[in-house]
Amino acid sequence: MASKNFNAFQMAQTQFDKVAEILSLDEATRHLLREPLREYQFSIPIKMDDGTTKVFKGFRVQHNDAFGPCKGGIRFHPQETIDTVKALSMWMTWKCAVVGIPLGGGKGGVICDPHNLSMREQEQICRGWVRQMAKDVGPLNDVPAPDVMTSSQHMLWMLDEFETIRGAKYPGFITGKPVGMGGSLGRTEATGYGVVFTIREALKQRNIRPEDTTASIQGFGNVAQYALKLYTQMGGKVICVSCWDQKDQKAYSFRKISGITFEELLSITDRFGGIDQKKAKEMKYEILDADAWLEQDVDILIPAALENQVRADNIVKISNKVKIIAEGANGPTTPEADAIISEKGIFLIPDFLANAGGVTCSYFEQVQCNMNYFWEKDEVLGKLDYIMTSAFSEVSNLAKKKNLYMRDAAYIISISRVAQACKDRGWT
Ligand code: NAD
Repeated sequence: MASKNFNAFQMAQTQFDKVAEILSLDEATRHLLREPLREYQFSIPIKMDDGTTKVFKGFRVQHNDAFGPCKGGIRFHPQETIDTVKALSMWMTWKCAVVGIPLGGGKGGVICDPHNLSMREQEQICRGWVRQMAKDVGPLNDVPAPDVMTSSQHMLWMLDEFETIRGAKYPGFITGKPVGMGGSLGRTEATGYGVVFTIREALKQRNIRPEDTTASIQGFGNVAQYALKLYTQMGGKVICVSCWDQKDQKAYSFRKISGITFEELLSITDRFGGIDQKKAKEMKYEILDADAWLEQDVDILIPAALENQVRADNIVKISNKVKIIAEGANGPTTPEADAIISEKGIFLIPDFLANAGGVTCSYFEQVQCNMNYFWEKDEVLGKLDYIMTSAFSEVSNLAKKKNLYMRDAAYIISISRVAQACKDRGWT
């Protein structure tokens, strides 16, 4: 999503260029990897409930498929832009590569605000998106998934439309489906839990027990909720969570120094991850401003809302106590803020490593759909833990060995893997 003076794609390219230089990548590979392979932009006309027709703008970007079919979510957001989708598709390529799954990078979106759309209207947008893209997506070339403001229900409508058009069952076309309809157990938890698996490993390396730590989280949607759940189960204490308030059109932070519990906060949260202020006050939460989550005296910060949230202007407000920043969201930290985080010696777990649990579990969902045999939840989460822990170790070992910032180490691993795959295929 765009905000004034911020362009996620330029940021993704800046990050790429820095590492391309470190790796001395040849000119052709740089050209290939700093742009997507394919971009689609299209109109989706919808008959609204009031009888009028509205035209929504849809996107799909396939950044790179050297390792396998493109993979990535579809966002519904009023500020969606093609450049944000391009950035997110690029990050998906690096994400799949860092955890070593045989998939490429893609992303999609629709400019719309589900807060103001009925479920019927949202269903029509999902079906319209698939009608426009049906020829260019599918289990063998590009596999969508949920993202911000899209859910398993949206995925099921999309699957139904795709299967109707193709005239056969294609459960591997899309992931994040409801359990019992081709979805995988553990997918709901996967991204948030994955973030916490990496935090657990980072703490282990520092000989710090989770029970002795506190955290603050931006966002209380899918990623943030399950990050909070597992982290508190491990004994950690979350003291602050923030979210977007649709009515006020601004964000707030919700603080409870005694510790926030998953069930309690979830009970006053809507399906968009918005927290009810009145009920929160009754439950003794302090309601603070948008950036307060970032300013808490905690050991761990977890930005898990949107891109462009940790910037040069607000990173200066973070407490000296902060030891770890684990990026649940995609692209929450700008390159300028990165420089300050690195200088302060804060350990950063970069987005495309920290939040790779979602796509890893989506990959498991595809594998299970292809076999038509579904694993128990413990098996899914066990496999997820193994992959996340291995990827974390690879990145942190390289960072330690070469004295690199963690984001650069993760990029070096991903970009060199994808560059090699392009070379091996004879593309470059
Ligand atoms: P979501 O829609 O479920 O939740 C988003 C949360 O962020 C909500 O609580 C919302 O109120 C809050 N929010 C929005 N704007 C905010 C602001 N300005 N300040 C504070 N809070 C704000 O989305 P999600 O699925 O949890 O995704 C969150 C981030 O994680 C996104 O960057 C997404 O791309 C990324 N991600 C998600 C997954 C996944 O599996 N869901 C996987 C990888 C990465």
